[in-house]
Amino acid sequence: MFWQKNIETLPREQLEKLQLLRLKATVKRVYAKVPYYKKLFRAKKTAPKEIKTLEDITKLPFTTRDDLQKNYPDGLLSVTKDKLVRLHTSSGTTGKPKAVFFTEKDIATAANNMARCLTMTGVTKSDVLQNMMSYGLFTGGLMMHYGAEKIGALVIPAAIGNTDRQLLLMQDFGTTSIHLTPSYALYLAAIFEKKGRAFRKKLKLKRAYMGAEPYTEETKNKIESILKLKVYNSYGLTEMNGPGVAFECGFQAGMHLWEDSYLMEIVDPKTDRPLPDGQTGELILTTLTREGMPIIRYRTRDLTAIIPEKCKCGRTHRRIMRIKGRADDMFILRGVNIYPQQIERVLMSVAHVEKNYQIYLEDNDKMTVKVEITKKLFDGNLEHLKKLQFDLTEKLRAEIMVRPSVELVEPGTLPVSEGKAKRVFDNRKIY
Ligand SMILES: [Zn+2]
Repeated sequence: MFWQKNIETLPREQLEKLQLLRLKATVKRVYAKVPYYKKLFRAKKTAPKEIKTLEDITKLPFTTRDDLQKNYPDGLLSVTKDKLVRLHTSSGTTGKPKAVFFTEKDIATAANNMARCLTMTGVTKSDVLQNMMSYGLFTGGLMMHYGAEKIGALVIPAAIGNTDRQLLLMQDFGTTSIHLTPSYALYLAAIFEKKGRAFRKKLKLKRAYMGAEPYTEETKNKIESILKLKVYNSYGLTEMNGPGVAFECGFQAGMHLWEDSYLMEIVDPKTDRPLPDGQTGELILTTLTREGMPIIRYRTRDLTAIIPEKCKCGRTHRRIMRIKGRADDMFILRGVNIYPQQIERVLMSVAHVEKNYQIYLEDNDKMTVKVEITKKLFDGNLEHLKKLQFDLTEKLRAEIMVRPSVELVEPGTLPVSEGKAKRVFDNRKIY
């Protein structure tokens, strides 16, 4: 199913023509209206007239999180304030938040892209979408809400948390689709397991959209098998309008990134050099239609690769792979680059392992992985426990090249997160 078939299947040549047209307009606009960009362009000895092809994008400066924070609150606007209708900020863990402004047209474009995403996974106006993302300054709640409403689906703005109420809403209003973070989905999965099959049978759930945090294929499989629904991967970030930047279609082999709205590049995060399709690097995005606050070559810090092959669904907008990690989540231990997702992938693939885990880093390159296991195993035979601990240690060592200590803990021991989960606790003083 398509929301805008003509644009979603636009032949590449025409799509790239459209991108170039929009890129030129965006570059002209920021150069003329945003003094900070003019300064960045000049520092790089470049100007809008340099952009003749899409490849010329590499002549332009990057925009970093730091640039957004430096220009907080409103230094990157390219319209007068009376044109703005919405402000979102991103949940900055350090320093000032990043503020992003939208005009009416910007909101409409974001909602439209979201409608494309939902339609390609089968959502129609007869669906009921329970939106379990937090509403407010975070884009996750509102942008999904607008997209689903655009299709004409019934939206339940449940927001995150209050799990008893979530379950009641699902049951009483026949929720077919849910939108949530992977950590909340894992939390829900534990509750579903407790409630048993009879409870699940009362529900009409078909699909879950998971985003806002990177997660692994193994986590997805676990959630699908417990919640008995299809999990679709969703990618977005506040700086780029929130959810709906890229999304899985029915074939679920990578996420289509809406290339009429964003120009994507993959660069080596260390050398900043462009990488060819298929290679993993940092995703760089340039907004192509944004009015209020266009952003040039934004360093997302997210690691992924472009899938150049055409998708079976017929869409011509290229796909990106599941986000492998955030360049920022990465930690270095004994000179090895490690992503929490690598550890999660191993843990979630082993039987008797529950959903909650934490990684502790201490001085002397010590790494401890605490992970909850099933109650049955925890209370059972000591030999079995030792074997699981040994297996996990060996599997982790094979994956990350470093041997961690593995601590098996009783289910319910580690703090439960109803929002974004904190997995890594780096207590090292020197590294
Ligand atoms: Zn597809």
